[in-house]
Amino acid sequence: MADEELEKDLYKNWVRGAKGLEYLQEGLQKFVGGKVQHCRNQSLQKIINGLPTGSARQCNHCTSQNLLPEHAKQKNACNRSTCIEQFPNNCFGSKPNGRRKCPNGICSKLYDEIVLDHSSRDPLWKNTDPSSWGSDRLGWSFAKCFQTTTGPGISASLTDAAGLLSILINNLTMQNWLACNDMSSKVTCPFNRARDIRNAILHSSKLELDNPTLSYYLDTFMTVLQDAKCLLHCDGSKQAVDKLLQLKKQQINIRQEDETKLIQNRKEALSELEERTAEGLREIDDRTATAISTFKKDVDNRTNTALSEIEQTKATAKLNVIEEKRSALSDIEEAKRGAEKDFKDNTKAALSE
Ligand SMILES: [Zn+2]
Ligand SMILES: [Zn+2]
Repeated sequence: MADEELEKDLYKNWVRGAKGLEYLQEGLQKFVGGKVQHCRNQSLQKIINGLPTGSARQCNHCTSQNLLPEHAKQKNACNRSTCIEQFPNNCFGSKPNGRRKCPNGICSKLYDEIVLDHSSRDPLWKNTDPSSWGSDRLGWSFAKCFQTTTGPGISASLTDAAGLLSILINNLTMQNWLACNDMSSKVTCPFNRARDIRNAILHSSKLELDNPTLSYYLDTFMTVLQDAKCLLHCDGSKQAVDKLLQLKKQQINIRQEDETKLIQNRKEALSELEERTAEGLREIDDRTATAISTFKKDVDNRTNTALSEIEQTKATAKLNVIEEKRSALSDIEEAKRGAEKDFKDNTKAALSE
């Protein structure tokens, strides 16, 4: 009986953890939504300011299929030495056929801006629609480039905690509004830790959490929402912290609809995990392909160098032989002339004797 009670408590703790994730999402959405709009507008404005007067200020002709990035070349596919992305194979410029620069001078430049504003220069292109980068009122199709997994969300309020955290972690401009100054650290950065915790909760096979773990999880969520620079002063995050404190203080009674919703969240997170595994495998394939082609190029280069060295040696050797032959011949000529002279001299001497 006691075991059963404990199991129930551990399960209830898991539900509290999953519920905590919802509060974290609520506490972040307004802040992230506002900053995303600001970042998108700022990047777009910078590009538009550089256009000749009278130019169109918006473009909806560019898509994932036809857009060529500003840094890319139509004739030469992007590669390690020409691409600004961490994985050139992911770049639109790696398959330049059928692509062209934005006819309005906007989207190709915005593409490059997004890459340069990504902390690891690895935006998630398959999650976004370039034709709405400028027109989408909330800027969310721009924001999605900074997520790490694809998601259906079309706004901050419809994006889960992991998606919002990823945008904060991956977008360099966003980091200006955060006190945390090492977003890449899994140890010191609470945003990074919270994202890992989200995965630990939703990807766990056992729906159980012990008390110390749950406390640590909820404390981390509160640390995120109390980031000293801006979040600490936002109403949305203050309310979420209050809810998290309540959740930490007392055990809960789980309502049926809550339970159904949290299990659904977990199901979605698990399907995203499968997608990530597939994505990881694809990335490994891409990287292997790049490594093989780099290796082959290197071998080709070295073979070419070696061959040209051999040719050079052969030519030099040939010259040497010719030179030696010439000097040998001239030696023979000389010897012949010497011998002829000696013969003549001897004959002369014999005749005169
Ligand atoms: Zn490229
Ligand atoms: Zn365009």
